[in-house]
Amino acid sequence: MQSVNPSTGQVIKDYHETPIETARDIAGRVGDAVERWRDEPVERRSAALEKVAQVLLEGRQAFADLMAREMGKPVTEGVAEVEKCAKVCRYYASHGPAFLQPERVETEAYKSYVAFEPLGVILAVMPWNFPFWQVFRFAAPALAAGNGVVLKHASNVTGCAIALEKVFAQAGLPEDLFRAVFLDKEAVLPLIDAPQIAAVTLTGSPGAGREIAARAGRALKKSVLELGGSDPYLILADADVENAARICVKSRLINTGQSCIAAKRFIVVPERRDEFEKLVVQFMSAARQGDPLDPRTELGPLARADLRDQLHEQVVRSVEKGARLLLGGSIPNRPGAWYPASVLTDVAPDMPAYDEELFGPVAAILPAKDEEDAIRLANDTSFGLGAAVFTSDRERGERIARDHLRAGSCFVNAYVRSDPRLPFGGIRDSGYGRELAGFGIREFTNVKTIYVD
Ligand code: NAP
Repeated sequence: MQSVNPSTGQVIKDYHETPIETARDIAGRVGDAVERWRDEPVERRSAALEKVAQVLLEGRQAFADLMAREMGKPVTEGVAEVEKCAKVCRYYASHGPAFLQPERVETEAYKSYVAFEPLGVILAVMPWNFPFWQVFRFAAPALAAGNGVVLKHASNVTGCAIALEKVFAQAGLPEDLFRAVFLDKEAVLPLIDAPQIAAVTLTGSPGAGREIAARAGRALKKSVLELGGSDPYLILADADVENAARICVKSRLINTGQSCIAAKRFIVVPERRDEFEKLVVQFMSAARQGDPLDPRTELGPLARADLRDQLHEQVVRSVEKGARLLLGGSIPNRPGAWYPASVLTDVAPDMPAYDEELFGPVAAILPAKDEEDAIRLANDTSFGLGAAVFTSDRERGERIARDHLRAGSCFVNAYVRSDPRLPFGGIRDSGYGRELAGFGIREFTNVKTIYVD
C-alpha cells in the first residue's frame, strides 16, 4: 500500500497490508474491549469523547499537514475539518446520554420500554476525501453507544488511519477499542464474514456500496451506506443570482470539488441563465489554486492521478455529446494530480456531467425551461443525497424542498452541509441509514423491547 503526494506524484511511504488472519485477531481484540466498554455507564462513555476533542484540537495543524500531503486538502480546510471532528465529539459528549435514555411506552404491561444497547464491533470502510471527518461522523456516536471500531481506511490515506488510531489511544479510550487495519478493497470483504464483526458501515462510491452490502447481506449483518451524490442546485427566477452563484461555487469547490454533497448540477431557469453563467465563471476562475500546505490556497490537486484522469474523461465525453466548456477542461502540464476549475454548460441527458457524479472542481450548468422543468431535472438522477433551491420567496423554497425534491437533505438559499445536530444520509444510489443527531447514535444499537408483567 502506498501513500503518494498528489501535489508532486512522489511516493511518501509504502505500508504493509495486514494479513487477513491478523485483521480477524484485531477484530477479536476490539470485541474483548467492547465487552468491558459496553458495561461502562453511557455518561462515562460519552464523556471520554471530550478528551478526544482536546487531543484533536491540540494536533489540528499536524493533522491538516498530513491530509495536505497525503490527499492534497488545502491546510485551511484541513484545520476546519479537524475542528469539526472535535465539535462532533463534544456534541455526543453532551447529548449521547439523552439519546440513549430508555423510552417508556404505555401498554397493558406493568412496565414496558425501549432500551438501546450496542451491537458490538463495527467495521468501518472509509474514503479518503475527508479522512478525519468521515471517520468521526460515524465513530463518535458509535463509541458513545458502547460499540468498538475496526477501521479500514482508503488505501491512499494510511498515514491518516494511523494518526486516527493514535488519537483515540492518546485520549485514554480503552486499549483496542478503536483499531485500524490496512487492507485493500478485495481483502476487506472476507473480514465482513468474521464472527467478531457485528455490522459494517461504508462511506464511498455506489460500486463499493453494492459489494459491501451484498457481502453483509449474505452474512446477515446490518449495513449503513453513505454513498455518492450529484446534488442539484435550482436557481429560480426570483433568486438573488449573485448570492446563489457565490454559494454554488463555494459548495462546488469545497475540498477541491471532492465532496459527496458538493453542488454538482446547477439548474437555472431561462430568465437568469446568462447572468448566472457569467458569475459562475467569474467566481470559479477566482479560486486560488496552489500548494495545499500554503494557508492561502483554496484549490489543491485532486487526491490521485487516476481520479483526475477519470474526471477529465467525463468532461471530454460530455463535450463530445454537446456540452460547452466555458472555463478550464484541460490537464496542466506538470507533475501531480492537478485539474483546473472548469465550467460546462448546456449539460443534458446522456452526458456524464448529467448522469454521473463529477468528483472534482467542475461545475455543470443545466438549462431548464421553467420552474417545473427545473424540479423535474433535479429529480432526474439515480442519486438522492442533497439538493438546494434559491429563491427570494422562502415559503416557496421550503415547499419545493419539502414536497418536490427527492434527497436526504434539502436546503433553501444555503449550501448543503452536515451538522452534528441534523441527520445526514441519502436515498436511492446515495445509500441508506443515517449518521449524526439522535438517528446516527441509534444506527448501531439493538433497539430492545423490555416488557415486564
Ligand atoms: P471508493 O472508491 O468507493 O472507496 C471508499 C472506500 O471503499 C475505500 O476504503 C475503498 O478501499 C473501499 N472500496 C472501494 N471499492 C470497494 C469494493 N468493491 N469492495 C470493498 N471496498 C471497496 O470511494 P472514494 O473514491 O474513496 O470516495 C469517493 C466516493 O465516496 C464518491 O462517490 C463520494 O460521493 C462518496 N462519498 C460519500 C459520502 C457520504 O457521506 N454520502 C461522503 C464522502 C464520499 P480502497 O481505497 O482500498 O480502494
